[in-house]
Amino acid sequence: MNFCPNCGKRLGALFLSGKERMACHDIQCGFVNWTNPIPVAAAVVECSGSVLLVQNVGWPSTWYGLVTGFVESGEMPEEAVVREVKEEIGLDAEVQSFIGMYEFHRKNELIIAYHVTVPTLEYNLDKNEIVDAKWIEMDRVEPWNAGTGLALRDWLKNRGLSRNLVEIGTANSGV
Ligand SMILES: [Zn+2]
Repeated sequence: MNFCPNCGKRLGALFLSGKERMACHDIQCGFVNWTNPIPVAAAVVECSGSVLLVQNVGWPSTWYGLVTGFVESGEMPEEAVVREVKEEIGLDAEVQSFIGMYEFHRKNELIIAYHVTVPTLEYNLDKNEIVDAKWIEMDRVEPWNAGTGLALRDWLKNRGLSRNLVEIGTANSGV
């Protein structure tokens, strides 16, 4: 962002609240680009001891991850996660527990992760968003070393399954 979305003037560096920010130099306007992270809801989708990993449109063919989606205006993250599971894989999810929050700096996201269960292994993918999906048994899944992989690791740990984190794209992995 180089120009102010309020007044259209050029933004410049300004030291504010302990960091250099891009801000509008028009004092009347006062716009600051705080670059606050975007909340993203993520689901460890479980059924019969297996976890569903999905491949988003545009991902390399070795990448499989958790179901994720942006939290919409007026929505709680646990509502977002149920909506995303319904939209992306066509299943009715039931939230079982909150796993944790994870900073994903590379994409400037704050990941809010839940464990959800679904009633059946038979998913119905929204092909506009999800290219492929696979169920992986809980004791074989390998969490990625970034993003929602950390949520998956913590969820496994709570089940007594201690896992090393793996590089993105490794077999059975998922963030
Ligand atoms: Zn401005």
